[in-house]
Amino acid sequence: MESAEIRRRWLRFFEERGHTVVPSASLVADDPTLLLVNAGMVPFKPYFLGEVKPSFSTATSVQKCVRTPDIEEVGKTTRHGTFFQMCGNFSFGDYFKEGAISHAWELLTSSVESGGYGLDPEKLWITVYQDDDEAEKIWLEKIGVPSERIQRLGKADNFWSMGVPGPCGPCSEINYDRGPAYGEEGGPAVNGERYMEIWNLVFMQYERGAGTGKDDFPILGDLPAKNIDTGLGLERLATILQGVDNLFEIDTTRMILGRAAELTGHRYGAGEKTDVSLRVVADHIRTSVMLVADGVTPGNEGRGYVLRRILRRAIRNMRLLGATDPVARSLTEVTIEAMGPQYPELFEERKRIETVIVAEEATFLQTLRSGTAILDTAIGETKSAGSAVLAGDKAFQLHDTYGFPIDLTLEIAAEQGLSVDEDGFRRLMKQQRDAAKADARAKKLGHADVSAYREVADVSGATVFTGYTDTFGEAT
Ligand code: ATP
Ligand code: MG
Ligand code: MG
Ligand code: MG
Repeated sequence: MESAEIRRRWLRFFEERGHTVVPSASLVADDPTLLLVNAGMVPFKPYFLGEVKPSFSTATSVQKCVRTPDIEEVGKTTRHGTFFQMCGNFSFGDYFKEGAISHAWELLTSSVESGGYGLDPEKLWITVYQDDDEAEKIWLEKIGVPSERIQRLGKADNFWSMGVPGPCGPCSEINYDRGPAYGEEGGPAVNGERYMEIWNLVFMQYERGAGTGKDDFPILGDLPAKNIDTGLGLERLATILQGVDNLFEIDTTRMILGRAAELTGHRYGAGEKTDVSLRVVADHIRTSVMLVADGVTPGNEGRGYVLRRILRRAIRNMRLLGATDPVARSLTEVTIEAMGPQYPELFEERKRIETVIVAEEATFLQTLRSGTAILDTAIGETKSAGSAVLAGDKAFQLHDTYGFPIDLTLEIAAEQGLSVDEDGFRRLMKQQRDAAKADARAKKLGHADVSAYREVADVSGATVFTGYTDTFGEAT
């Protein structure tokens, strides 16, 4: 089943059950606490917090998400991308645990002919929060899942919360057993690769207080209205339904991976190291295209830096795979072809997306040319001095003079078996920032002698200040 069909079926199923279909919001979060949307519920946050009353009591969406913290997993696990689509259904004081669980089970297990995904119920394993007897009872008695396939997990995995004070509650997750080829048995509590998590059901039922940390806080009481927030990874379900090993081999990513292999002359499947690089490229290029489509441009801060880092990582992996020519145009083109059927705006924005990505590649290749030799020398010197740590001032110099991002220095050093004195690097960065700030302050406060300007003005008349409209720069 193609990704586009998985998406259609999802929306149709919930629409037929009275949910309002809400289009995906932009990846650029309309939320000061977040750089990028990382879950389907983000656009609904004001409803869950009770700040705004929704015009519907149930809704469904397929939301574009980016999770930068998963970047190190990409290509190494079979199931983590930096970009993915989260299919969700939401209830605002409408149905609760029983409704959410029944809907999920029906959609996953009903036959393909009748509009479902046709998963084998015997391959589905359930986790519930350790104290959530209510959810366990529904799975056991209403749905009929045998107790051997239901596991209890603690707060770190199966309890969700947002804000202080804010809503919180237990989760219940649905996991798919991919069989012994993926390792030891024992359920999702012991093996997340074999028992792949596909769907998280969050039951928002309590209000939480402050406490001491992420997993340690008091429950203040019940919420006035209980809500449901669920998220299923579209690419993970596609991995199962398309019978492939990982989410870089499904219809929408495989084409990109194929192009990366073609451009570098590698055969996918020939070796683990090159396979990881090919998967990283497929993932990162797709994420970059989706970010640029939503208006993000590469930069040194915030979202711009997220994009820059991901895109440069893709380009660098292409270099590691042996590419010597620019590759961004070709990879962008195939990504737009792969994702365009689901996101037609990609076709309309093709020119702009290509221009941004190609320009960033050119800048980065220039950076690589000038910085790599310096870094290689520094690595050689570090090793011959018998040290395993690259000095912080070297990393700083690379950053300051050659525009080498610290992540890149860390990665290249790690490939050579070295770590980097990051504390030293950050100390120098801070010194530089502080010096720049002090300088700016001095300029602002300084009582300069303006008599020379007075003389000019007396001769040539007043000038119009155009700085507000004609230049742009970042406030410091
Ligand atoms: P995992 O434990 O596998 O990292 P998670 O518990 O962090 O997943 P949730 O926050 O519960 O994920 O998100 C809901 C669903 O979104 C998951 O069940 C999964 O199907 C999907 N998902 C989460 N992270 C990713 C990712 N990096 N790439 C692809 N799909 C993802
Ligand atoms: Mg995760
Ligand atoms: Mg999880
Ligand atoms: Mg989860």
